[in-house]
Amino acid sequence: MSARDIAARVRAGETTAVSELENSLAAIAARNGELNVFLHVDDEGAYRAARRVDERISEGLDPGVLTGVPVALKDNLCQRGVPTTCSSRILEGWRPPYSATVVERLVGAGAVPVGKTNLDEFAMGSSTETSAFGPTRNPLDPSRVPGGSSGGSAAAVAAGMTPISLGSDTGGSIRQPAALCGLVGVKPTYGLVSRYGLIAFASSLDQIGPFAANVADAALVLEVIAGHDPMDSTSLPEASPRLLEHLDDGVAGRTVGLVRELLEGADPEIVAAVRRAADTLAGAGANVIEISIPELHLGLSAYYLIAPAEASSNLARYDGVRYGLRVEGEDVTATNELTRSAGFGDEVKRRIMLGTYALSAGYYDAYYGQALKVRTRMIEAFARAYGQCDLLLGATTPTVAFEIGAKAQDPMAMYLSDVFTIPTNLAGEAAISVPFGVGESGLPIGVQLLGPGRSEARLFAAAAVLEAS
Ligand code: GLN
Repeated sequence: MSARDIAARVRAGETTAVSELENSLAAIAARNGELNVFLHVDDEGAYRAARRVDERISEGLDPGVLTGVPVALKDNLCQRGVPTTCSSRILEGWRPPYSATVVERLVGAGAVPVGKTNLDEFAMGSSTETSAFGPTRNPLDPSRVPGGSSGGSAAAVAAGMTPISLGSDTGGSIRQPAALCGLVGVKPTYGLVSRYGLIAFASSLDQIGPFAANVADAALVLEVIAGHDPMDSTSLPEASPRLLEHLDDGVAGRTVGLVRELLEGADPEIVAAVRRAADTLAGAGANVIEISIPELHLGLSAYYLIAPAEASSNLARYDGVRYGLRVEGEDVTATNELTRSAGFGDEVKRRIMLGTYALSAGYYDAYYGQALKVRTRMIEAFARAYGQCDLLLGATTPTVAFEIGAKAQDPMAMYLSDVFTIPTNLAGEAAISVPFGVGESGLPIGVQLLGPGRSEARLFAAAAVLEAS
């Protein structure tokens, strides 16, 4: 059932939040052992939240547009008192003293958070295999990855454990798993959604966004979580955009740019799906043109300097003193070293070393400084494309879901999973992945719609056209 249907039925008294929660917990109990989707299920807190919703309904009050809807949270989002690990040993046992703004807003709209989902450690990865707590399996084919880093949040929805979930997208971590699990996944405009209470990976790139099984549920969740928050200094000043009322706007008269670089290197079945999507948009009245944005080739290289540089700084706070794990040494420096050596996994260590190197005196200009210039060129290139087009279209991922282990030992192969999604993060713009057909293996294919900053209403309208076809 969709989130909208659940909310409507709970609001109408046809079902209760508690009974919807029970359905969700039963679905989790049935498959979490096999799939490793949730790191922590907060039964107690969820029952409390659900009972509060039901009480308000019985008092004749309206808890909101997500009344009684169970929601899963990526485990890099803080929820007060609930273990939050970022899938890292270094945070094991830590319970945040406050909740992320997005969590407060979901609960404020009547949603019921059921637990925390698995991710690549500190959101670094594309398969959920770098989690310190074991990989998550793709519910559609458990021999395959769900994508990452928000693989647990994607799997929760794909397995029917919750109708909606939240992830974070620094270089593709919502859109890529959405594509691999057959879901809608949104990377909102930088600043649209508050990141207060999101544990930082790369602060100039990170955004929180929704997963849902359909376009309208994703729009609804984004409406709830978006909008200015004084607790996040990067938050855009305006109120949440109206998305649902534009869902039927269609694409007639829109110019859609099919981007050559967002197909290059993709499997033929993916290219074919994107071309069918282009035809569908054209059939709905869009003017589809083929364009080239050569600067997109620079995205991956720039990202793998900027993101690790920011991560090396953000992750300096895990020092064995303030949070989670502490391995005692004979002095502060030794404690710090022992804690970080024991607490971080290989991929996180690789990023910290890469980033520290890129920022070090003597290399800063050649690496980090250069990457920032490349980033500016990409922003300008997108701006030129949006001078000509209302929307861009391309693949979300080069392949469908791959086998567990297939890329785990080859960082470069793993990094290439995000080659089509990373440019949007560098530009601070918006994009959405929509399921569009299946490949030979029967696994879902996602196509990506990209737009300039604050173009979410337009993106959702185009996504709705693809979904309807
Ligand atoms: N896969 C990319 C990385 O490993 C993006 C991750 C993300 O968006 N959090 O950095």
